[in-house]
Amino acid sequence: MKIDTLAVHAAHEPDPHTGAIAEGITLSTTYLRAADGSYPGGYVYGRSDNPNRAHLEAALAALEGGAAAAAFSSGLAAIHAVFQALAPGDHVLVSTDIYHGTRALLQELLARWGLDVDFMAFDDLEAVGQAIRPETRLLYLESPTNPMLKLIDIAAAAELAHSSGARLAVDNTLATPVLQQPLALGADIVLHSSTKYFGGHSDVTGGAVIVKQEDDFFARVRLGQTLAGGVASPFDCWLIRRGLATLPLRVRAQAANAMRLAGFLESHPAVSQVHYPGLKEHPGHEVAARQMSAFGAMLSFQVRGGEAAARRVAAETKLFTQATSLGGVESLIEHRASIEGEDPDMPDDLLRVSVGIEGGEDLVADMEGALGASAK
Ligand SMILES: *Cc1c(COP(=O)(O)O)cnc(C)c1O
Repeated sequence: MKIDTLAVHAAHEPDPHTGAIAEGITLSTTYLRAADGSYPGGYVYGRSDNPNRAHLEAALAALEGGAAAAAFSSGLAAIHAVFQALAPGDHVLVSTDIYHGTRALLQELLARWGLDVDFMAFDDLEAVGQAIRPETRLLYLESPTNPMLKLIDIAAAAELAHSSGARLAVDNTLATPVLQQPLALGADIVLHSSTKYFGGHSDVTGGAVIVKQEDDFFARVRLGQTLAGGVASPFDCWLIRRGLATLPLRVRAQAANAMRLAGFLESHPAVSQVHYPGLKEHPGHEVAARQMSAFGAMLSFQVRGGEAAARRVAAETKLFTQATSLGGVESLIEHRASIEGEDPDMPDDLLRVSVGIEGGEDLVADMEGALGASAK
């Protein structure tokens, strides 16, 4: 079935009691027990399960082609649950180019818990293969990466992990299952910040883990969800499930706008470099063309004239709002190097753009105006 159909119909039925087409929100934290002590509705207690969460999880599993999913209160809560499903002393190889919060989580919390963490550049998979040890249990990557939009070959990374009995986990937040399906490419675990494209409207925080097999590993992820308690609230689940219905429409429109904007930026004299895998010159273009159905809606570019010029461009745009985060319907622009706690190696003339669903010609015109105004 097409992902467009799944996005609307997976785990979405009219209410059998009222006929309501839109799903209701079940706020109850506790559920009726029958005379014999059983739970006729199948639900017991809000932290362990909830109808809105169950529907969201079923829809997420369907969209990523997985066997099961677990929804969390944030992307980092989901990522935390995956690493804590391992054991202290286990070794993990993590791509250097990952979300800065994931890096901090590994360094500040999980290393102290006893996880043996090594960061490596995953563009060189041969070196990654050499770093695998008998106690290596997990390889972890993002592709495309943020904000440099590097590409990593997911199928090759999966083969490498499996050849030594490890699992591959892919944070698929930037591509979404509309453009890239890591489980079909060989990955075992997919992670999401639902805060981004799944919610899609910059109004809900959430995260998800989706797995290829409902095995012991997933049972431990589930245990982490219900015992650590980082569950998504009923309303948040409802918002994210609602967001999923339009995910394919939004993401394709956003990716088309990004392609158009990247082409414009590439030919602009005030821009020294554009990082977008849809461009033929991009070093990851071929890998992207192989494992993605379009090139995504995130791009970054470097402005001639250094940091001051880049900040002026960000300040001059009218349709691109200066803010962090990504994946919403509205376009955002951000000077990455000035975000606190960011990588000191970040080029200071780099702007990251999350392209929204506005008219592509309006976005290009706005960017043209900002680049012109900042050059004056
Ligand atoms: C935002 C983000 C996260 C963290 O998600 P939160 O919902 O903010 O906890 C993880 N990975 C990627 C790629 C992200 O963009």
